[in-house]
Amino acid sequence: MKTSISLNPTIIVIFGGTGDLNLRKLAPALYNLYAEGYMPEKFAIIGTARRPLTDVKFRETLMEGVNSFSRTGKVHKEKWDNFSQNVHYNPIDVKDSASFDTLKDTLDKFKNEFGPDTQIVYYLAVSPDLFPSIAKRLAKFKLAENEDNCRIVVEKPFGKDLETARELNEILRERFKEKQIYRIDHYLGKETVQNIMAFRFANSFLEPLWNRNYIDHVQISVTEQLGVGDRGGYYDGSGALRDMIQNHLLQLLCIIGMETPINFDADEIRDKKVDVLKAMRPFSAEDIRFNTVRGQYTKGWIRGDEVPGYRSEKDVDKQSNTETFAAIKFFVDNWRWKGIPFYVRTGKRLSQTSSLITIQFKDVPHQVFPASVAEHWQQNRLIISIQPEMSIRLQVQGKRPGLDMTLNPVDMVFDYKGTYTTESPEAYETLLLDVMTGDQTQFMRADQVEIAWELLMPVINAWESKKSLSFPNYAADSWGPEDAEALIARDGFHWFTLPLNKD
Ligand code: NAD
Repeated sequence: MKTSISLNPTIIVIFGGTGDLNLRKLAPALYNLYAEGYMPEKFAIIGTARRPLTDVKFRETLMEGVNSFSRTGKVHKEKWDNFSQNVHYNPIDVKDSASFDTLKDTLDKFKNEFGPDTQIVYYLAVSPDLFPSIAKRLAKFKLAENEDNCRIVVEKPFGKDLETARELNEILRERFKEKQIYRIDHYLGKETVQNIMAFRFANSFLEPLWNRNYIDHVQISVTEQLGVGDRGGYYDGSGALRDMIQNHLLQLLCIIGMETPINFDADEIRDKKVDVLKAMRPFSAEDIRFNTVRGQYTKGWIRGDEVPGYRSEKDVDKQSNTETFAAIKFFVDNWRWKGIPFYVRTGKRLSQTSSLITIQFKDVPHQVFPASVAEHWQQNRLIISIQPEMSIRLQVQGKRPGLDMTLNPVDMVFDYKGTYTTESPEAYETLLLDVMTGDQTQFMRADQVEIAWELLMPVINAWESKKSLSFPNYAADSWGPEDAEALIARDGFHWFTLPLNKD
């Protein structure tokens, strides 16, 4: 957790410097950190990729990325000129050892210039099959030996199942200390997600209610209107379960479900999250049948445009069995949550792009008001909206103004836009700053990743071994397959969506 910032000189090596992630996310984040005074006084950003490029050309490419994708819009000329003096390019084929010799020379040059306290961050923004090559060569060329000053950031996906995640962890941990490894899950860097911790642990009124005695269920819903787009090649080998639930949604569930930490130390927080994963009920064959739903979108219309079905998307197998939608009912078997369902759903080509966590509280134990007074009776709900709106809403019953006693639900709203004038940083800004300050709180530890895979492997195996006969089973611009409605309706609930619906 950052309170004040004073950073040692830093070299950031971005493997995959010409890639989409760097152009859309990392370069804008680093530029914004610089523009707002968060970069170290001395720093160098070294982009690497296979093709030869001059520093000048590389800087131009990054500027285009920043101009197109930065939350702050086009670059400020003077700030960009100063920032980009620190940006360099070094061609590297990560499969070729000789490249790492030249990287070593470049690093030595900056280390000599910056002094002995220089820290180095290696950012692996390349396809996951290249993670092992880079890790092995960084170790072989002794480029990350100083465990206090060298960090390695590993992008998602971290493995494609339990076995491959374990293998990657082994490769990394044989060569680096855990405190050097930053497994990124960009959801954890989002302002609203970080605010859940503040909301839960900096306010006393919530804790007595935050348990099975007062909460009747939790929903976590991360939906996208977009289809698979250009990512068909990657996505078809992955699917909604691997791409979203194994990491982002389970992490959100952990933040909602975790016990109160003793302090804000990275490992203390991560221990508490791991405890939630450990308490989650393993899936039996029967659970998979009744508590999980998969879906795949067919063609349809979105805002007047005809959109293709998943199997007709670029680089997708025409017979694909990959799910573009998943809904699961989880249970956390501990004292706090025993018996309380956590419904989780995610999917592409749905009616709305939104990320919403809803905590529904139990109904009042005894109804004091006659039915005629409670026009639109609704149980209390706490709705944490991560996007598009950044807000926390507490839905309570209120008396409608007038001479009659009439009740209806009203929202008490903490809305970022209305409350603060400063714009929230992008998740990658927060996370890159965390890496530079050496704060691992918002990064996944080896055991977190493995236990999340372990939990989902029975579902992954079941879905892979038995093709869905109903695919494609939901239309674009819908809320997914009907079975997902049935999954939650069986328990007497329904999915909440924006605009926040009131029964
Ligand atoms: P990309 O294909 O756009 O870029 C890959 C980069 O790796 C390019 O710069 C390419 O030149 C470089 N590269 C390929 N082979 C190389 C080699 N042998 N030696 C050196 N460099 C090589 O991919 P991307 O979309 O930028 O994704 C990179 C990583 O980030 C992936 O792991 C992806 O899953 C993850 N990620 C990307 C996004 C995103 O928005 N693009 C979001 C989340 C996670």
